[in-house]
Amino acid sequence: MGVTRSFFIALSKNQALNSGAKRWGLKLGAGKVVAGTDIKSMMQSVKELNANGISATIDNLGEFVQTKEEATQAKEAILKTLEAIQVHGVNAHMSIKLTQIGLDVDPDFCLENIQEIVSAAANYDIFINLDMEDYDHLQQTLDILNVLLKEYDNVGTVIQAYLYRAEKDLENLKNVRLRLVKGAYKESPEVSLQEKKEIDENYLKLIKLHLQAPGYTSIATHDHHIIEQVKAFVKEENIPLHSFEFQMLYGFRTEMQKDLAKEGFAFTTYVPFGQDWYAYYMRRLAERPQNINLALKSLVSK
Ligand code: FAD
Repeated sequence: MGVTRSFFIALSKNQALNSGAKRWGLKLGAGKVVAGTDIKSMMQSVKELNANGISATIDNLGEFVQTKEEATQAKEAILKTLEAIQVHGVNAHMSIKLTQIGLDVDPDFCLENIQEIVSAAANYDIFINLDMEDYDHLQQTLDILNVLLKEYDNVGTVIQAYLYRAEKDLENLKNVRLRLVKGAYKESPEVSLQEKKEIDENYLKLIKLHLQAPGYTSIATHDHHIIEQVKAFVKEENIPLHSFEFQMLYGFRTEMQKDLAKEGFAFTTYVPFGQDWYAYYMRRLAERPQNINLALKSLVSK
């Protein structure tokens, strides 16, 4: 892992900066990749995406919450967002990080919160994705998912291709709707691949496996090499278009997003919004140091 990547990942975990940033409003160019700080501005962006044939997965930003009060507030905000999806009649579902609704405070309390959310979403016929966070939270996230799957079918999660255990986890979740990603956190060589080439190879392997399994596949990447290989594979194997989609993050490769939707592929954009934008934005800078230009330009133009 390069020095720059480690640097931004460390910044993303800085508690003082995370809480300070909530008071700043969207700064450092984050407005390019975060769809505003409130439901109104987020909905505007989602409607624009829908007009281009693109669906949205909405992330009411927040993570690494340390108190029950904050977790309850986050749950209430998520429930309001679900209601807004219903009221506005937009084509969208939600992505949720379990640490935002109390995983670090008390896993049983977190389970109650996510049950309330998934149940409300089921009533609206809205899908809930459990985002995958760092390795320390992986097993707990899968355990909670498995409890939810006993009662609900509108829930799924993410498999990170950099982890050695990814293939085994994928195998156990054959029937489940999964988002497949390369992985965004800094993980140790004991648990994860470190070389880009190896991660890419494993990523493509997992995509092919899940495309041939019953569960729906969300291929979440900005990597055009991977996308081209997936296109060739689905053609060769006659994989039906309704069994998978591509996903990218809001503000990234916007033209390519529209082009893939125009080509007839199902497409979902990950739309983060809210005041808790800081850690999300730092991880995006870590992934793609070119994005630092966004941050620097915004500083110079102020
Ligand atoms: P990279 O390996 O970053 O890029 C590969 C190549 O693609 C680059 O070399 C470049 O040629 C090209 N490229 C990439 N970005 C651009 C760009 N903006 N403009 C032009 N060319 C570009 N991670 C998690 O750990 N948990 C999650 O729950 C999670 N959810 C995600 C949801 C979505 C919708 C997406 C898109 C990503 C998510 N991630 C998540 C992040 C993911 O794990 C990767 O860290 C992130 O997507 C970067 O990897 P990549 O596949 O986009 O390609």
